[in-house]
Amino acid sequence: MTVERIYNFSAGPATLPLPVLEEAKEEFLSYQGSGMSVLEMSHRSKWIGQIFENAEQNLRTLLSIPKNYHVLFLQGGARLQFAMIPMNFLGGKSSDYILTGSWGKYAVDEAKSQGAVRLAWNGQDDNFNRVPKSSELDLDKNAAYVHYTSNETIQGVEFPTEPEVGDVPLVCDMSSDLISRPIDINKYSLIYSGAQKNAGPAGVTMVIIRDDMLSRIPDCLPKMLDYRVHADKKSLYNTPPVFSVYIVSLVTKWLLGEGGLAKVHRHNKEKAQLLYDVIDGSAGFYTVHATPESRSLMNVTWRLPSEELEKEFIEAAKAKGLSELKGHRSVGGIRASIYNAMPREGVESLSQFMTQFQQDKG
Ligand SMILES: *Cc1c(COP(=O)(O)O)cnc(C)c1O
Repeated sequence: MTVERIYNFSAGPATLPLPVLEEAKEEFLSYQGSGMSVLEMSHRSKWIGQIFENAEQNLRTLLSIPKNYHVLFLQGGARLQFAMIPMNFLGGKSSDYILTGSWGKYAVDEAKSQGAVRLAWNGQDDNFNRVPKSSELDLDKNAAYVHYTSNETIQGVEFPTEPEVGDVPLVCDMSSDLISRPIDINKYSLIYSGAQKNAGPAGVTMVIIRDDMLSRIPDCLPKMLDYRVHADKKSLYNTPPVFSVYIVSLVTKWLLGEGGLAKVHRHNKEKAQLLYDVIDGSAGFYTVHATPESRSLMNVTWRLPSEELEKEFIEAAKAKGLSELKGHRSVGGIRASIYNAMPREGVESLSQFMTQFQQDKG
């Protein structure tokens, strides 16, 4: 039986690599001869132990994660990290936030409930259409940490490289662009990422944390909110979301088979360029939200001349199997999320559709 699949441009939960879905289907009823589904297994079983080991090892290989970093698989989404980070690391000090979009704003609001927050940069007045240069940052040398969002999934603005913050620990929300390109882990004290954008299904949040950060944690926290507990128990303190971690292990294995992150990054740049080229060549029919230096490779966001036309665009695209292109409800317009798993053919179809739509309606 052949199954009809669409091109799904959803921002998250998002499209997964077809080979991963097929592998999961293949071993769904009996995982590696166990006679059980991964969904039915004790998290203390050898199989789940191996799945966690594989997921961690694959991430370590893909990202060249040094030994002095822990890789954790937690629950509560990136949203819980917004709170856990200040709870664990503020230590009575103030924190700096570089604010480049909606997710950063949520992170700031949550941190404010825990202590002092300064904005080292605020892109709100520019309608969050760009990221700052490091020279524009107003940093506090004594801050407990600097937090930024490498890719603002809603606005479609992405840091081309990490900001320079001196000796202050750098903390990053990479929910929508972790494992989309190589990064220098050594520049970070903590990276977190909800899996459901670029790495797997909802339910698991990956945290990469440098070992020395654990010594800053106060003793008053509930165990589930204390990174030391999860590092000590290797993410098996409570019952973890085993199936989500299993899919992450398959996605990361697939990426290694694709040739690693340098190659994946090149593909991602080419895919994004296909869309930005149509937009730039449209003589103003399509207008991109982000400024050229801040354009996201993961979420391309743009407008049409009217909301009427945007509605028509989304409907007509859907009829051609190009689905989930509506922009986030808070900003409107169009958003095409083109994570690692979106094949180049999907982006090519969309770019051809855009050109045709302009010819018909422009
Ligand atoms: C989706 C998203 C979040 C929220 O993730 P949850 O897992 O729903 O908590 C946070 N930050 C960024 C950058 C995101 O894209």
